[in-house]
Amino acid sequence: MYNINKISILLVEDDADLTQYWAGHLASRFAHVYRAGHAFEALETLHRHAPDIVMMDVGLPEMDGYTLCQEIRDHPDFSHIPVILYKSGYLSAEDQRHGLRSGAVRVMNKPGSIDEIVEVVQAAYTEQRVKMVVDSEPDSAPATEPKDGGYADFLTRQLGETINQLKKEQTALSRALNRYKDFAYQRSDFFWETDANGLLTFLDAGARNRLGLPENHYRGVTFIDFFGRFLSADGLDQFTQVFSRLGVLDVSCKLRDRNNFRIVRLQGKPYYHADHGFAGYRGSLTDITDTKLTSEKLYFAAHHDAMTGLLNAQAFKSLLESELQMLQQNERHVLCYLDLDFFKEVNDRAGHRAGDQLLVQLADLFRRKVRSNDVVARIGGDEFAILLRNCNLDQARRLIQELHNSIKTFRFYWEGQRFEIGLSIGLLQIENSKLSVSEVMDLADQACYAAKHGGRNQIRVFGDDQTSGKLTGDALWLEKFHTAVNSDQLCLFQQPIRHGRRDSGSNAYEVLVRMRDGERLITPAHFLSVIERYKLTAILDRWVVYKLVDYLDSGEFQGEFYSVNISTASLCDPEFRQQAYALLAERPGVSGKLCFEVTESSAMENLDAAIEFMSAMRKLGCRFALDDFGTGFSSLSHLKNLPVDFVKLDGVFVRGIVTDPVDFGLVESIQRIAGLMNIQTIAEYVENAEIAGKLRAIGVDYLQGYHIGHPEMMSQKTPAIMH
Ligand code: GH3
Ligand code: MG
Repeated sequence: MYNINKISILLVEDDADLTQYWAGHLASRFAHVYRAGHAFEALETLHRHAPDIVMMDVGLPEMDGYTLCQEIRDHPDFSHIPVILYKSGYLSAEDQRHGLRSGAVRVMNKPGSIDEIVEVVQAAYTEQRVKMVVDSEPDSAPATEPKDGGYADFLTRQLGETINQLKKEQTALSRALNRYKDFAYQRSDFFWETDANGLLTFLDAGARNRLGLPENHYRGVTFIDFFGRFLSADGLDQFTQVFSRLGVLDVSCKLRDRNNFRIVRLQGKPYYHADHGFAGYRGSLTDITDTKLTSEKLYFAAHHDAMTGLLNAQAFKSLLESELQMLQQNERHVLCYLDLDFFKEVNDRAGHRAGDQLLVQLADLFRRKVRSNDVVARIGGDEFAILLRNCNLDQARRLIQELHNSIKTFRFYWEGQRFEIGLSIGLLQIENSKLSVSEVMDLADQACYAAKHGGRNQIRVFGDDQTSGKLTGDALWLEKFHTAVNSDQLCLFQQPIRHGRRDSGSNAYEVLVRMRDGERLITPAHFLSVIERYKLTAILDRWVVYKLVDYLDSGEFQGEFYSVNISTASLCDPEFRQQAYALLAERPGVSGKLCFEVTESSAMENLDAAIEFMSAMRKLGCRFALDDFGTGFSSLSHLKNLPVDFVKLDGVFVRGIVTDPVDFGLVESIQRIAGLMNIQTIAEYVENAEIAGKLRAIGVDYLQGYHIGHPEMMSQKTPAIMH
């Protein structure tokens, strides 16, 4: 075989990405890789660089591969260059004939790998070289008569060189053949060959030995008859189908042996005579049982808890994620979060092995108690989760109550000791509410936590009216918040922001959120600290942002901008940042009317991520305001680093601007520095005309506060996005 790193190749392919990929990988293997996107470029490259071999797509624009191949063959300077043609999709026998008639040395399916390209180029080039040596008869007269000796001597010498060259080629070929035979033997595959009628013409010795067959036992027997004794019907059917259309065979099937479970892979492809007529099939049979079983075992181990055999936390969460995505409007699941009560006691009294055994027994009990379509997982030490699919709350309550009753009567025995088991269970109805996996897991955990703190060994349902009557403090607010998000009980208010130098009406607003509680509308001050504590702020922020974006998307708002607050938790949450970016990237008309208010301290929590997010969102057209600006004097130095459009002057200074010269001086200097940085200012808490007058005199760009306008409910026409 020729050393390919001395060969230069021309790739002719109109898919620029593909050729770039191929060329990149082939550059280190070949002496040179030229590329052409169409026939004329290919001809030019042939003229300029004379590559050693050409590999081209049949489906080229303007002039197809067959015609270009013919052109190359007919050209006196290129006729010796071997051309390999390939075709995407189905390669028919007619395609093969057409290609070979056009002068191609190979016609094949589009190569699937770099190695395939290397292999075919190497083989085609070697064949071509051998052919050239054999064809180069020393009968043409030399350009100049040799000076020493006669013409006959010269011919003899040249013939001798040719024969030597040929011998070298033959040695190389036979070495390569032996090498491949050795490799093939090591692989312990079966190699087989049929003729054009499907009769077996070759079965390698290894295969014959293993099957215990005499030397010529297979000869004259069809592939189907021979392998029909060993392979299941699906493999044979595939062979019959593929054989009829001269396609490529690749199928996994079982061996017929009842006492020995084995899976084999049957591969094969057609081969052709020198005159290009179909000659038969060549292929292999490989035992892939061990590989298959190992990969199945590895897959199982990665997704299951080794002790109980239940799904592990990671697998459960990814299953839950796909369930949440597929949940239709009127579909309901119930997520159950279970935590054993005083499990440590079992470990302490009877040892960890006893604890392990108890976990195994309980896992079995859970598995037996749920329906076949439900999923049970072990998500922590003594924590389990159950997903009750397509289940309403009443059904879930009944089913889980039964499971709980079984636990109450269950006794665990260990070395003469007897244990009663308690189990706290939290249930959460899952609807099409766009909550993330971690959010639903958190909420179900809250319900389980409520069950623990309500006295243990009981069931609590998140958002259940009967139980919420007993809820107090955090649990009460969490339940109210969850209900409000799920039943659209949150609503948006807007407070006007007026341009400082214009007296006309407001053309910008800050959006605020309120929660309905019966007849009352509650400000976030009542529940914000609770939802922050339970890490649910991102749910609220996302609700507000989605709702506002949908409103702006309706095109109803003709003013300047709406500003909306983003909490520290959301700004630091990669999922929130990514969702906000995706939402606005899809709506270029909305970004220009949206301003996000972030606080300096939230940006500082994860400065790099905050700057990256803000810069990306600003590229989409969104603006950013630094809220509560001035409360820490460090602010001025941070202003240089953060990509913001506005600073919102903190109300503490704005209120005092008339009476306190320090406040006045502070606001004035912030205004001056912001001006130097091309950042606009918004003053909040503008409560009266006197404050407004002072701010205008300083040059503050925007004013907001009761003097400008009170918060009012946003248009009722605002479309609802999240329910
Ligand atoms: P509570 O009623 O508040 O749930 O208390 P608890 O005793 O059940 O303890 P908790 O749920 O807070 O913690 C679970 C304990 O389970 C902690 C650890 O000692 C034990 N544990 C965790 N994993 C394993 C395990 O694989 N085998 C055994 N035997 N014990 C485990
Ligand atoms: Mg526990």
